Amino acid sequence: MTYSPNEEFALQLDAADPLRRFRDRFHIPTDTTGRPLLYFVGNSLGLMPKATRAVVEQELEDWARLGVDGHLDGRTPWYSYHETVREPLARLVGAQPHEVVAMNSLTVNLHLMMATFYRPTSSRFKILMEEPAFPSDTYAIKSQITHYGRDPQEALLLARPREGEFTLHHDDVEALLDEHGDQIALVLLGGVNFFTGQLFDIARLTAAAQKHGCTVGIDLAHAVGNVPLQLHDWDVDFAVWCSYKYLNSGPGAVAGAFVHERHATNRSLPRLAGWWGNDPATRFRMHLEPEFIPVPSADSWALSNPPILSLAPLRSSFAIFDEAGGMSALREKSVQLTGYLQFLLDRAPSKLYTVITLREPTERGCQLSILAHEHPKELFAKLEAADVKCDFREPNVVRAAPTPLYNTFHEVWRFADLLAQHQTAA
Ligand SMILES: *Cc1c(COP(=O)(O)O)cnc(C)c1O
Repeated sequence: MTYSPNEEFALQLDAADPLRRFRDRFHIPTDTTGRPLLYFVGNSLGLMPKATRAVVEQELEDWARLGVDGHLDGRTPWYSYHETVREPLARLVGAQPHEVVAMNSLTVNLHLMMATFYRPTSSRFKILMEEPAFPSDTYAIKSQITHYGRDPQEALLLARPREGEFTLHHDDVEALLDEHGDQIALVLLGGVNFFTGQLFDIARLTAAAQKHGCTVGIDLAHAVGNVPLQLHDWDVDFAVWCSYKYLNSGPGAVAGAFVHERHATNRSLPRLAGWWGNDPATRFRMHLEPEFIPVPSADSWALSNPPILSLAPLRSSFAIFDEAGGMSALREKSVQLTGYLQFLLDRAPSKLYTVITLREPTERGCQLSILAHEHPKELFAKLEAADVKCDFREPNVVRAAPTPLYNTFHEVWRFADLLAQHQTAA
């Protein structure tokens, strides 16, 4: 697509956008005068769909009206509530329905998955992950390593960007696998890196790791709802994600996990168990059934009956994704929207910024990470003062994530215009 830098062009793109009606489905936060903020932090907390209030209120009403009977007699019975998000969730991550489960929070799911898929032996005990990684992932992984009495210094391998670069080369990850593959138990990568916005070729790295006998887990926190995924076909062993970023399901919303069919149906895998992972046919025999019989699906990793009030928002959010035509339709707009931002930033005359996110659409999601060479904190403060919601990652990176469901081309234009003004002022 050929872009033009003038404001009129941005407005034309919005007028021609087949997804433009979806913005109105969301509450857009405003400044004190009621003007909508330029909300580019859907990578941190996605906006609230207007439909979500009623979906949550329905459960509060059913609880008030029915008490315990809501489990079976509620309008959407709580007993099988998680079933209502299974199919849309499977569509979002490219999975079979029995390969996904909505449960817990991301880091909890990471631990539950590692309890099954990280079982170090004397010869195969290493974990390979990328740097920079989100701290929770690093803590979870290091604590799993020490939990087995091992030293992260020897068991944790980091795939790092080359000197002077910000993003990873797939070749370098493959070289690490060639060198250490027979000692690596688990490869854990972000689908999209939280800091740089780099989108990995998950199919390629999964195949490379599995060739060496390693298990592959993907943290999709910044990928789900952002880029199309085909977890089943890519043969990923497991994946985890949260639902409050691009999935717009609210703070602390119920997260998710994927377990590939070949493991999900394997009842003999070791796992941490709770009653919600037991075969529903015998679950309510309670104390008469002391042996855990895992249901042959990803559900067998679930422990507890789910928190309905933080599961409900997934329903109204996923309905929007389906109505918009799923991830392929959203991705089409997303590539244009982020491409437009890149185009506008490229035109900036000065050398005050470097976009550290890769330029190829196949190598990034919607986020651009903008490294400010001078006065990064002042720049960020100015953006905030001008009604931009983006975020700042120490020491000098501003992350901006225009999302296809509720951001417009004109907002991207205004954001780039503000950055350009800062340059002239600086
Ligand atoms: C957002 C994010 C998390 C957050 O973990 P929670 O358990 O949901 O608090 C973890 N890892 C990555 C990569 C993230 O982007």
